[in-house]
Amino acid sequence: MKLTSHIVISFSISVFLYAMFRSYILASASFIFGIFVDLDHFFEYFNEYGLTLDIKKFFQVAENYKFKRTFLFLHSWELFFIFSFMVFITSVNEILFGIFVAYAIHLLFDQFGNLSKPLSYSFIYRWKKDFLTEKIWCIGSHGCI
Ligand SMILES: [Zn+2]
Repeated sequence: MKLTSHIVISFSISVFLYAMFRSYILASASFIFGIFVDLDHFFEYFNEYGLTLDIKKFFQVAENYKFKRTFLFLHSWELFFIFSFMVFITSVNEILFGIFVAYAIHLLFDQFGNLSKPLSYSFIYRWKKDFLTEKIWCIGSHGCI
């Protein structure tokens, strides 16, 4: 999903959270995490192009599934469920609750807004597919099977 979409969605969720709980901390944590969780795309970029950075190229490659391998460590339902479990068995504070909401919304929008297969956002699935982009997403000759 494009950065602008994540900004609009994260802002909307943050406004909603602020209206519900009247907490700038909660709303800010949600807004920041909802956008910056996509920083894990840099891992693919650096893996493929080395430690150089061309922001325009980065967005072009990331938004068009042009990486050979897709790791997306933070974009994993498994990690989300582990995080959620840890948050709710320990202590839920405003920052963690904001991150929890943003994380869930971000993954849901990516799951249904991108060229995803049902298991594309499973880390184990991507691992079993050797993190090969063309096998993980509904792209290329493999289509969406
Ligand atoms: Zn994302």
